[in-house]
Amino acid sequence: MEDYLGKDIKKLGFGLMRLPMNGDEIDIEQTKLMVDEFIAKGFTYFDTAYVYGENGASEKAMKAAVVDRYPREMLQLTSKLPIWCCEKKEDMQKVFDTSLERTGAGYFDFYLQHSLDKEKLAKLDEFGAWDFVAELKKKGLVKHMGFSFHDTADVLDEILTKHPEQEFVQLQINYCDWESDSVQSRKCYEVARKHKKPVVIMEPVRGGSLAELTPEIETMFREKNPGMSTASWAIRFAASLDGVITVLSGMSNREQMRDNLSYMEELRPLSDEERATLEKAADILRNTPSVPCTGCKYCVEGCPMSIKIPDFFWTYNQRTIYGNVTMPQNRYNELIKESGKPADCIACGQCESVCPQHIAISELMPKVAEEFDR
Ligand code: SF4
Ligand code: SF4
Repeated sequence: MEDYLGKDIKKLGFGLMRLPMNGDEIDIEQTKLMVDEFIAKGFTYFDTAYVYGENGASEKAMKAAVVDRYPREMLQLTSKLPIWCCEKKEDMQKVFDTSLERTGAGYFDFYLQHSLDKEKLAKLDEFGAWDFVAELKKKGLVKHMGFSFHDTADVLDEILTKHPEQEFVQLQINYCDWESDSVQSRKCYEVARKHKKPVVIMEPVRGGSLAELTPEIETMFREKNPGMSTASWAIRFAASLDGVITVLSGMSNREQMRDNLSYMEELRPLSDEERATLEKAADILRNTPSVPCTGCKYCVEGCPMSIKIPDFFWTYNQRTIYGNVTMPQNRYNELIKESGKPADCIACGQCESVCPQHIAISELMPKVAEEFDR
């Protein structure tokens, strides 16, 4: 793994989870332009997953926009095994074969057990999922094996102690969750470092929510770094840590791509003064009520009431964080024409069983309804 950790290695990964859309479909032409700009600046890491997008749309986009257009050996390609999509042991092979076929990758440089938490561990053991990926590695179909993680530092310690063969971990790290009791970014990072595992960072901008902040924080940032975007603070925070393979950014348009590239091409690590500013911002954010939804959409497909859960949380946060009244109400009124309503929630808990952020969705749905239906 040392090959990926050198100071001169470019540490921005293109997360293909929130690609530009054209109606209900990924805008492949726009994606290709973004990929071209990314690669032209020397970046080569692309991240997708079996469950991203409808019917594997993200993995297929990896093929169309990346694999079919660039030499395979210059790329680092990543996908993930979602154990919750496997009903029986044999399904793991089907999932992997499907990912290989959709992406056309031939092999994955990094292959991860997707979104691990304590609850999924029993199923991984029952299905022999660790050994399954180790076999893929022996066959040369996977270069490096690891897992993405959404639980406490204690659980991470338990997994890494039991599975020293895992080569890296993918963690949710951002300055807002650094000291949080639920995400435990700092503690998880320290556990990974204790076990000498390199880290891939996900959600550095917390699903985009750290790209646009309250006027108070934005002013604070602008005064320190005029001309630098709000998102730049979040990405540079993550990239300034030691032992990082890459920082994944789920870029959705060319502006975001250009912004990310502008400070990641030649990374300037955070100064002590900038770090202090970020701590102040995190304090303000921690005291602002909001739902920590990252918009990953894992919860959407299985909702029996077809509620577009992350879209409703977005409107709710717009109101609670920024105090916006009209814009979120208008968005809400549009949403309920195309989606089940938050008031329709039957508290079945399906969404909560897959939410990596462990959000009490069924408790929040009535609150969202109360806020917007009155
Ligand atoms: S708890 Fe509510 S929002 Fe979640 S899946 Fe069930 S009906 Fe949908
Ligand atoms: S509620 Fe949870 S699963 Fe659903 S989009 Fe938000 S973070 Fe993802």
